[in-house]
Amino acid sequence: MANKMRVLVTGAGGFIGHHLVKRLKDEGCWVRGVDIKNPEYEESAADEFEIRDLREFSNCLLASRGIDQVYNLAADMGGIGYITSHLADISRNNILINAHMLEASRLNGIKRFLFSSSACVYAQYKQKSPDLTPLKEEDAYPADPEPGYGWEKLFAEELGRYYWHDYKFETRQVRFHNVYGPLGTYEGGKEKAPAAICRKVALAEDRGEIEIWGDGEQTRSFMYIQDCVEGLLRIMASDYHEPLNLGNDRMVTINELVDLVSAIAGKQLRKRHDLSKPQGVRGRNSDNTRLLHVLGWQPEISLEHGLAATYEWIKEELFSIGQLVKSVEDDEAAWLTSVRGGNSLVQKA
Ligand code: NAD
Repeated sequence: MANKMRVLVTGAGGFIGHHLVKRLKDEGCWVRGVDIKNPEYEESAADEFEIRDLREFSNCLLASRGIDQVYNLAADMGGIGYITSHLADISRNNILINAHMLEASRLNGIKRFLFSSSACVYAQYKQKSPDLTPLKEEDAYPADPEPGYGWEKLFAEELGRYYWHDYKFETRQVRFHNVYGPLGTYEGGKEKAPAAICRKVALAEDRGEIEIWGDGEQTRSFMYIQDCVEGLLRIMASDYHEPLNLGNDRMVTINELVDLVSAIAGKQLRKRHDLSKPQGVRGRNSDNTRLLHVLGWQPEISLEHGLAATYEWIKEELFSIGQLVKSVEDDEAAWLTSVRGGNSLVQKA
């Protein structure tokens, strides 16, 4: 008990943090989760869960007391609609969280500190084409990141490097590329493309229509949450201090993503493209050369498998909140899935 690794996960009420806490518990760690809110869809597995606003330095000092390792995932963030319309709030809130968490962790003698950065740090002028070359870590410079969210993440990466340079404070920098999976926000404006598309497809009638932001030809890669958590643990355990991509390197268009989800749902749907909505950069993909070199590993769960699990979870959520009504066929399909231990979903994809 006394020699268990003591880990702090900030943002533990959020999507990635919640899954990470569960995994760290499975690994035998003692875990403190901190957030300004509780997890939305199930209780945290953390040994301690504290509600704290990490923009306040004193809260960061208290959150990181008696801890060995920090995974700093707390951030004000959301999908493309949210991050393009809240530039000042996101920048101010996240600069405060990141600067205060770093200094509080140093003062508390934390042994390792991981910062969750984003592919939004990459230079926009390198992402103008849908069939772009995958982004290598050095493509973040000369800097031209996403306004607000991207600039703030890029500077927080730099800050982590300065702490290593000046204090030999052990930092890790992870650039996530679009993480998705069950227990992620799927409505309300902060959801991201895979969850929004799963919700829209689940709610649509077969042979009906769904709205897509932009012309749908913008490209992205998507990483399933299980791979994300695996990568986080591996990067924390490595001795690599520089920013590292953590993403899947299979690039798809948003239209292809919709087709995959429609196939999982067994629906034929028309796409109505709304060109007035934000779509972000035209193309983005992860170059995993360095990740493979450092870890000897890269994300491996297929988009078909991950989307099937995500779609099923969102559909069940919509049933439970009454936005979808179960038919006899749904009941029968759910029963078959439970009898087969959930494997039918994977086979169907
Ligand atoms: P999330 O929004 O689900 O989780 C972030 C959590 O931080 C939320 O629960 C939120 O309440 C909490 N938080 C916000 N302000 C806070 C404050 N002042 N004090 C304490 N907690 C606060 O997001 P996520 O998808 O789990 O992302 C986790 C991290 O990964 C974030 O840093 C995010 O920027 C980064 N990231 C995520 C993705 C992705 O695709 N999910 C992509 C790139 C980067």
